[in-house]
Amino acid sequence: MPFRTDDPVADFERHDREQARRLAKLPTCERCGDAIQQERAVRIYGNWFCDECIKECIEEVDVE
Ligand SMILES: [Zn+2]
Repeated sequence: MPFRTDDPVADFERHDREQARRLAKLPTCERCGDAIQQERAVRIYGNWFCDECIKECIEEVDVE
């Protein structure tokens, strides 16, 4: 954690704000609404989806 002082509460709050600012810049998943924190993610027609949601959306296809 950068800028560590002798005030742990202030340190924690600063860390929290930095984290929030960092997350605000990230795209959010259209399905679950979470910030996408992976280096690569699926984007379909401008909408982002995280790997977890993509996995949950994969269905078996009955191919004869
Ligand atoms: Zn998601």
